[in-house]
Amino acid sequence: MTQAPGSGGAARSVARAVAQQRRPAPGTPADARRYVNLWSEKEALHGERVRAFVLILRTRGCYWADLKGCTMCGYARDTLGRSATPEEIAEQVDRALERYQGEPYVKVFTSGSFFDPREVPETSRAVVVRAFRGRARRFLTETLPEFVNAQNVGSLREEFGGGEVEVALGLESTQEEVLRRAVNKNSPPSEYFEAARRVREGGGSPKAYLLLKPPYLTEREAIEDTVLSVKLASEHFDTLSINPVHLQGGTVVEHLFRRGLYRPPWLWSLVETLVRGAPTRREGTRLVSFPTSGGNPRGVHNCLECDASVLAAIEEASLSQEFAPLADLPPCPCQERWRWEQGLEGLAPEAG
Ligand code: SF4
Ligand SMILES: [Zn+2]
Repeated sequence: MTQAPGSGGAARSVARAVAQQRRPAPGTPADARRYVNLWSEKEALHGERVRAFVLILRTRGCYWADLKGCTMCGYARDTLGRSATPEEIAEQVDRALERYQGEPYVKVFTSGSFFDPREVPETSRAVVVRAFRGRARRFLTETLPEFVNAQNVGSLREEFGGGEVEVALGLESTQEEVLRRAVNKNSPPSEYFEAARRVREGGGSPKAYLLLKPPYLTEREAIEDTVLSVKLASEHFDTLSINPVHLQGGTVVEHLFRRGLYRPPWLWSLVETLVRGAPTRREGTRLVSFPTSGGNPRGVHNCLECDASVLAAIEEASLSQEFAPLADLPPCPCQERWRWEQGLEGLAPEAG
């Protein structure tokens, strides 16, 4: 990590200052009745192309974001600033159901952990999943590892009435140093692997998010980090989703970006990561990437001319699980600049 502060202390103090600035004031009852967002998106379910319904509930949000937070995460801005009551969560779900079109894949997130009882009480978890019982085939949610156990996954499955329950964990990287110094996560990779085991024990399917290019890594280091993470994480998870960093408001990466110290990853880096990572996976592990803000200067991007076609190819590879065609994309002159910048990064003096 050529740009990493020596001890990680400087990175942590920036993270703490940024975390303190973004915490919203406690929300009113009117705020608490509104979910953050919902939309429908393309997905695949056992090889079949389907639509997925995505709902973001407004809760108190991630406790770690209040303490220090991860360097790329601005979700705290979408929180209520206090715990939502069970009645408020039920009302958010009722409102969301008005726009549910029977999508077979349902993804319900909070801006934190669905299994943290301070965010979603156990009774509310049942209310949320029961709303889709008999209507959806798969229910996906996300949590930090410390909140998930075989029992709460098993209960969710029961309430869902036999449908599939998928639990995502924001592993981000299998390299402990990257997690601690660049992402600023609270737990080492081993705790995520252990949580994945508990998800399986409860009858669920574990999924991991992998972060492409946290701050303080060069473009090349970021590619190598995620390629290795695909191989190692596939031993523990059924699905791996590569999330290239996009700039969220009030985050350390945005702070660095504004000072010219960070560029979101190149799409060519994501392509290389998928092409090299895919053949190294444990057989049967699904690998996907549906980048947020792709082709936008605040997200994963190339020259902005070739971005749309490269993003379309990545989406197709994610849906079909055929990654070889990504190695034969039509070239673009910006690939030279991508390579050249990596060469320059390689010449930068080591910091710390
Ligand atoms: S990335 Fe996850 S663990 Fe980190 S601050 Fe955001 S919600 Fe919390
Ligand atoms: Zn280009």
